[in-house]
Amino acid sequence: MQDRPFLIRGAAVLSMDPAIGDLPAGDILVQGDRIAAIGHCLDAPEGAEILDAAEMIAVPGFVDTHRHVWQTQLRSVATDWSLCDYTINMRSVFASFYQPEDVWLGNHIGALEALNAGITSVVDHCHIVNSPEHADAAVQGHRDAGIGGVFCYGMFRNARHHPGAPIDVAELIGEMWGDVEDWRFADAERLRGNGFGAHDRLRFGLATNEFELKPYDEVQAELRRVIAMEPQRISMHAGMGALAKDNRMVKHFLADGLLDERALFVHGGGFTDEELRILADHGCAISATPDTEMQMAMGHPVAYRFADAGGRASLGIDIVSNIGGDMFSQMRLMLQAHRAWLNAWAEQDGRTPGTVTVQARSILEMATIGGARAIGMDDCLGSLSPGKFADIALIDTRAINMTPMIDPVGAVIFYANPSNVDTVLAGGRIVKRGGQLTGIDWPALRRRLIASSDRVLSKAQRIPLEKIQALWTAPWYFDRRAAIEAVS
Ligand SMILES: [Zn+2]
Repeated sequence: MQDRPFLIRGAAVLSMDPAIGDLPAGDILVQGDRIAAIGHCLDAPEGAEILDAAEMIAVPGFVDTHRHVWQTQLRSVATDWSLCDYTINMRSVFASFYQPEDVWLGNHIGALEALNAGITSVVDHCHIVNSPEHADAAVQGHRDAGIGGVFCYGMFRNARHHPGAPIDVAELIGEMWGDVEDWRFADAERLRGNGFGAHDRLRFGLATNEFELKPYDEVQAELRRVIAMEPQRISMHAGMGALAKDNRMVKHFLADGLLDERALFVHGGGFTDEELRILADHGCAISATPDTEMQMAMGHPVAYRFADAGGRASLGIDIVSNIGGDMFSQMRLMLQAHRAWLNAWAEQDGRTPGTVTVQARSILEMATIGGARAIGMDDCLGSLSPGKFADIALIDTRAINMTPMIDPVGAVIFYANPSNVDTVLAGGRIVKRGGQLTGIDWPALRRRLIASSDRVLSKAQRIPLEKIQALWTAPWYFDRRAAIEAVS
C-alpha cells in the first residue's frame, strides 16, 4: 500500500454500492489499504497524492471466481479443444511436467495479467499441486503480484509420466482417480498456517476432484474431509452439460447435508431448475465461465438462470490456455449469450421482443459485488464503499475505442479492453499506473515464461496420447478395472 493518502479526483464512479450509486464526477480517497471516503469535492488530506481522473471511469476491482492460473504459459494450446481434448492433454499430460518454478511463473504472471485487466481478486482452482513445493510456489506467485481472492488448494493427483517408456494405464488411473492422498490434507493445513488469515485479501480454500467422474462414496468421503477443514470456499467443477445427466450430485449432497455457503460450484449449465433452486436456498454460489462453457459443451452459461433462482451468481475466466484473462470479454459474452437465449425462446413462440429485458448493469454487478458475495468477501470488497479494501480500476476513456463516453456502464461492458485500464489499486497498492504495471521487470519475466512454456511443451510432446485418449473417451468412468482391461 501507499505511504501517502491517495485521492482520485473527478472520475465517473460506478460504485456498485446502492448507498452511493453512480457519481458523474466523484472523488475516492484511499488511506492505507482501504477506501476512506467517496463523494464530491473531497478535501485532500495533507500530503495526499492526487490523480486527475476526469476522463476515467472508476469501477470496483473485478472478482474472477474461477481460474486455473497456472496455465498462463500455455496460451492458445486449447483454442480448438473440446472438454475431452482438454482432459486428455492438459489434465493428463501438460500438468505432469510443471515444476515449482513453472507454477510460480504461471501464477505470478497470470495474477499480473489479471491485475493489468483490473481484476483484483481471483479464485485460483489450483490443481497443479504435484508436491508441497508446487503449492508454495503457487501461493508465492499470487503474493508477489499482490492479488487477492481465494487460493483453492487442489486435491487432484496429476499423472506421473516417464517419457520414452510405455504408458502404464493402471498406474495412470490409480494416480488420477485414486483416493485423495493423506499428505494433501496435511499439506493443505500446513499451507493455511503459513500466512492465511481470516480477514486477509488472499484467503485459503480447497478445490476438489472431479466429482462427476467418481463413484459417489468416494465423492462423499472427500467432501466430508474438505468441509471439516472449514476453508473460505470449496471450488467444485460440476453440472458440466451432459456429464451431469446421470449424476444428480446436488440431490445426493442435499440428502447428506453437504450443501452450505462454502460451496462454490463451477459451470452448472447441466443443473436442472430444481437443482439451481436447491443450491440457491442453501446459500451456495456458482461461477459461470461463458467462454469455455460455450466452446466445450458444458451447457448454456447458467449465471442468469441461477440469479433468477435467487442464487449467488458470478463470473470466471477459467483457462488462460484457451482465452484472454480479462473480465470484459466474459461480461460481454455472458450478457449477450443470455439475451440470445431469451430471444431464441421468443422466436420459437413467434414473437419479436419489443424490449431488452436483461440490462447491462446486471453483468457488471455479477463481475464485482456478485463475485464478492460468491466468495463470502462482500463485507470487504466488490464495491467502492468506505471501509472496504481499496481495490479499484480506473478505465481511461480517451482512447479511440472509448470516445465519446456517453454511458459509463455501456462503455465498460461493450467497449473497454485491458489496454484501456489506466490505473489499478489492489489493497491500496498501485499495481498499474499510466497503463503500465508497476515494479516489475517485464522483459526478464517474459523470457522466463517463454522458457517455461518451451520446457513443458517439449516434454508433453513426447507422450503418446492413444491410451490416454482411450481412457477418457470410454464410457465406463466408474469401473476402473474395466477401464484398465479395455485400454491396456
Ligand atoms: Zn475449471
